[in-house]
Amino acid sequence: MSQPKRGKVNINYKRCKGCGICSSSCPRKVYQYKKIGRPRVVAEEKCTACMLCQYLCPDFAIKIEKIISGVVV
Ligand code: SF4
Ligand code: SF4
Repeated sequence: MSQPKRGKVNINYKRCKGCGICSSSCPRKVYQYKKIGRPRVVAEEKCTACMLCQYLCPDFAIKIEKIISGVVV
């Protein structure tokens, strides 16, 4: 049985400058990032809502919502 979702990843692409810090810092490989372009969320189900990417994004472009027992908190 798959793990229940623990985090919802929201990227504000109007703020994102495509630096790639989120992708390189995520320990769960939630993001896919190519040198030219913007990060894409490719494995949201692996997110543990550790908040690391949200704290490290220099442009405040990421908002992580924690999910507890299926409810966004
Ligand atoms: S860290 Fe922030 S600005 Fe940099 S690519 Fe990720 S979302 Fe965009
Ligand atoms: S909150 Fe943590 S696990 Fe989730 S995408 Fe960000 S760095 Fe990765």
